[in-house]
Amino acid sequence: MNALMDCGVACQHYCSLMVNDRTGLRFNDSPIDFSICLGYICGMSKVRTAMLSEAELGEREKLDKRFMAQAVTQAQKAMALDEVPIGCVIVYEGKVIGRGYNRRVTDHSTLAHAEITAIKKACRALGDWRLEDCTVYVTLEPCPMCAGAIVQARVPRVVIGCMNPKAGCAGSVVDLLHQEKLNHQCDVTIGILGEQCSGLLKRFFAKLREK
Ligand SMILES: [Zn+2]
Repeated sequence: MNALMDCGVACQHYCSLMVNDRTGLRFNDSPIDFSICLGYICGMSKVRTAMLSEAELGEREKLDKRFMAQAVTQAQKAMALDEVPIGCVIVYEGKVIGRGYNRRVTDHSTLAHAEITAIKKACRALGDWRLEDCTVYVTLEPCPMCAGAIVQARVPRVVIGCMNPKAGCAGSVVDLLHQEKLNHQCDVTIGILGEQCSGLLKRFFAKLREK
């Protein structure tokens, strides 16, 4: 079996394998090694970046940038409401199934973070509390609540724009996404469109200081 086969089924593009149930990946009805799945779209949690070749990493980065740009668009919506500009999209089989942006002040809600809103929508779209085959794209490193929700939802892969040294829970303050004692760990990619993501935040806080 070739390491990469033409897909055309589940992920159409990169994953190259069929996802036929929640118990694992199969191709032509034979169980296959997860490591040959690139996991871009189906986001199998077993896939580690280290397994990808240069070319595969390049392809993945291209896709990551495309979806992160959509998360940035969400963050801009928050900015337009004078909210801290943080945006999130959740991707399943190459499609965005959940979007969200920070509306904490507007909604008078501690819970109105971009990731929580996107997770709610994605769960509704899939009719499942698990987001096992999804990738979360978020412009800023998640807070404890959102990192917790990501773990609860069993999200296999998280792509982060820029880090949050004061409150981030994907490595800055603590690393909830790689906590061995919990029952789920995520693959994490950091720095996709990082300058755009942090640039928005810098502009927002600069504007705030002018007021
Ligand atoms: Zn949060």
